[in-house]
Formats: sequence, structure tokens, C-alpha cells
Amino acid sequence: MSYIAPWDVAAAKKLGIYNQLMAAREHHVTRIINYDELLTHAQAETGTLPLSHVHPKAAGPRCMQHVSMQNTLLQHAKACGVKITRGVSDVAVRAGAMPSVTYAHGRTSHARRCRIVIGADGRSSTVRRQLGLTLHENEVDHLISGLLIEGAHDGRNHVLHFPAGQTPN
Ligand SMILES: Cc1cc2nc3c(=O)[nH]c(=O)nc-3n(C[C@H](O)[C@H](O)[C@H](O)COP(=O)(O)OP(=O)(O)OC[C@H]3O[C@@H](n4cnc5c(N)ncnc54)[C@H](O)[C@@H]3O)c2cc1C
Repeated sequence: MSYIAPWDVAAAKKLGIYNQLMAAREHHVTRIINYDELLTHAQAETGTLPLSHVHPKAAGPRCMQHVSMQNTLLQHAKACGVKITRGVSDVAVRAGAMPSVTYAHGRTSHARRCRIVIGADGRSSTVRRQLGLTLHENEVDHLISGLLIEGAHDGRNHVLHFPAGQTPN
């Protein structure tokens, strides 16, 4: 499940992709209730935190299955005329006055001349490394893990688990 923060929901509206995300049958989280083994349900619910007013242009954060969000955005990009090729490898970038990119798709190699190369290939970006660009990053201050709970997704509830523990050295 991917969590789209309220300010990113507002950004999605600005970008004109909010309706596509809404059509993907997922939901806004409108409140947080911190259930705890030391509280009764009634006590926990007294501290309900509403999320619908966090950002004036968002009805709370939006929760979507990651693949559903990815496919929605890919379909929208295609509808806007973007050519998408998935599953490429051996990406090589040449910068300069005449930039170019080569890559393999299946067993075929491709070469493209282009005006602008945008390397949106994540934190281990091969584009960044090939062009010798400096990586700017914050120190690790959170460790996050995922947990798959079968049958927990009924379209209404989203479980966030915050285990207490020592912070890493
Ligand atoms: C477990 C987990 C849960 C998260 N949950 C959330 C959340 O709920 N909400 C939230 O806002 N953020 C969440 N994040 C953070 C979020 O996923 C990242 O911040 C975001 O994906 C970064 O986007 P990006 O486009 O920079 O890189 P990425 O999403 O990593 O995209 C990079 C793309 O480039 C491709 N690629 C990389 N190298 C190559 C190569 N050599 N050749 C070809 N293709 C390549 C990859 O396959 C990938 O498709 C989560 C992260 C993790 C790990």
C-alpha cells in the first residue's frame, strides 16, 4: 500500500492526475486512531486525529496499492502520448552538446539521440553515476519494513504499525 501525503494529493490535483487516481477505487484516510494495548477502544477513539483538514486542497492522505497507482499513472502517460518501454537494461548515457542514450530491450539494442536526458532511475541511479553527479542524501533516521497481512484490505481500513524500540546508533 502506498501512502500519498496530503500535500502530494494537492500536487496531483495541480498536475491534473487526481481524477485518474480517484478512479482507481482506493481511498482517502480521513482520521487516525492510535489503538494501544494500554488503552480501551473508547479511550483510543477519544484521541481520534482528523486528517481531512491537514491541507486545504486534500481530503486527507490517499492510500493506494502501489501497482494500482503505477498502472494508473502509466496509462495516463500513454494517453498523453508518452512512449513507454518497460524492462530495459544496459542503459548507457552520453552527455554533452549531442546527448544520447543506448539501452537493450529484449535481445535488441537501441540508440537514441535526444535534446534532454532525465535520469529518474532512483537512489542507485546509473545515470547519476555515469555522469559523475554528486549524490545528496540525508542521514538514515528511520528504518522501515513492510508486512503483508492477507485479507486485511477491505477498501476502508489502512493499518500503520509503529513499533517502539531503540533508535539505531
Ligand atoms: C518499502 C517502501 C515503501 C514506501 N512507501 C512509500 C509511501 O507509502 N509513500 C511515499 O510517498 N513514499 C514511499 N516510499 C518511498 C518512495 O517509494 C520513493 O521515494 C520513490 O519511489 C522514489 O521515486 P524515484 O522515481 O526517485 O525512484 P524509483 O521509484 O525507485 O524509480 C526508479 C525506476 O528506475 C528503474 N531503474 C533503476 N535503475 C535502472 C537501470 N539501471 N536500468 C533501467 N531501469 C532502472 C527502476 O526499475 C524504477 O522503475 C517507499 C519506499 C519503500 C522502499
